[in-house]
Amino acid sequence: MSMFVSEISKTFRWEMGHRLAGHPLCGNPHGHSYAADIHLKGPVQDNGMVMDYGDLSALMKPLVAQLDHAFAVDQADALMGEFLRENGFRILELPYPPTAENLARWLAEALAPQLPSGLVQLTVVVRETAHTTAQHTVALG
Ligand SMILES: [Zn+2]
Repeated sequence: MSMFVSEISKTFRWEMGHRLAGHPLCGNPHGHSYAADIHLKGPVQDNGMVMDYGDLSALMKPLVAQLDHAFAVDQADALMGEFLRENGFRILELPYPPTAENLARWLAEALAPQLPSGLVQLTVVVRETAHTTAQHTVALG
């Protein structure tokens, strides 16, 4: 049988709050219904799959659990961070502003080391609103 490369994707959704400190609009605490499309490129194996969607879901589940109904906050945003911590709210602390670009990067960096060998490329597309996306791609293997 001939080996060929294919790209699969699966979409994961969560609700999350954030703010971009100093931004005239996005500096206000607010939230989004986020979605992330996880794209995996690699050789199609003898079972006809690049990777079992169920195995991908199992890897994504704890990551999405960290994000869902949390408030993503930049470690540099002391005002918001202190308020969230003092009140015991669910928080995702990041070493950078919680933009869609950085969330795509965070997901890609968390997921990539857990993926099975043989895959070629991981792309994470984060959809923060109905009209905007941010994409982060890492080479695998
Ligand atoms: Zn926002």
